[in-house]
Amino acid sequence: MQGLTITLKETRDVADGTRLFVFEKPIGYTFKAGQYVALEVPKMEGIEIDSRGLTRSLSIASAPFESDLYFAMRKGESSFKQVCWKLTSGATVVITKAVGFFVVPAEEDTRPIVFVAGGIGITPVRSILKQAEYEKSTRSFTLLYANRFIKDVAFEEEIENITLPHLRHITVLSKSDDPCAPDNDERGYICTEMIKKYCHNITGCLYYIVGSPQFSDAIEKILIDLGVPKENRHIDPFTGLRAVDAKKRSL
Ligand SMILES: Cc1cc2nc3c(=O)[nH]c(=O)nc-3n(C[C@H](O)[C@H](O)[C@H](O)COP(=O)(O)OP(=O)(O)OC[C@H]3O[C@@H](n4cnc5c(N)ncnc54)[C@H](O)[C@@H]3O)c2cc1C
Repeated sequence: MQGLTITLKETRDVADGTRLFVFEKPIGYTFKAGQYVALEVPKMEGIEIDSRGLTRSLSIASAPFESDLYFAMRKGESSFKQVCWKLTSGATVVITKAVGFFVVPAEEDTRPIVFVAGGIGITPVRSILKQAEYEKSTRSFTLLYANRFIKDVAFEEEIENITLPHLRHITVLSKSDDPCAPDNDERGYICTEMIKKYCHNITGCLYYIVGSPQFSDAIEKILIDLGVPKENRHIDPFTGLRAVDAKKRSL
């Protein structure tokens, strides 16, 4: 793959079986919050390359203003993931330029923004919210973030600490029996009632749906049934996260 070689600075675990990879950002590398790249890892001795090869699409989890490039992934069995979990600081990978349309419009567009993220789908949302905080955005953001259990919630503290005047962050745990906090906490799958509870002008909001294809399809269906027009629905299905994986991990 032709592209830019970037160097790993460090890794950190940001949820159960979920790792953040922090790379040096090459001078002059630009992207918009919410975009993604193709990332290729090197061959590694002892890891047999499977039929899907060593390249994956990954959203950039850091914001454009931040000095490093962040990527985050759930652990998996593929040769790509096996290599990733063996990368140590100083290792290099190759990335393409950033692409994609999962970006929010300029601040002059005052329509409220609603993110509906499942599991590792939080990566582009982190980028967008951190950039919005940096730019002192005054727009209205709602984040419905679905995971199975609290241990699966990535960047939890960081998102909780984002200072935006109109950000509401709702944690949705589909499988947890933990008691529900009085505010901004839900149990079960994201459903029509939940959307109605947190989005007041339902057809007037801009929705950004991101997660496994199965998750994205389910949320899109809810929004269609609620009458949300196509132009207000932005979807970033993480193709490659298959249904079986999504059931096991993301919801
Ligand atoms: C625009 C875009 C942005 C994305 N952003 C991110 C992101 O930020 N973070 C992220 O984690 N993912 C992201 N993805 C998804 C990512 O590209 C991978 O597809 C995903 O992480 C799954 O990784 P994997 O293919 O290595 O499989 P694994 O994580 O190893 O497993 C995924 C599924 O494949 C099966 N599987 C594993 N190995 C094999 C094999 N050898 N043969 C057949 N099946 C196998 C597993 O059982 C499982 O069901 C994004 C995708 C797109 C399109």
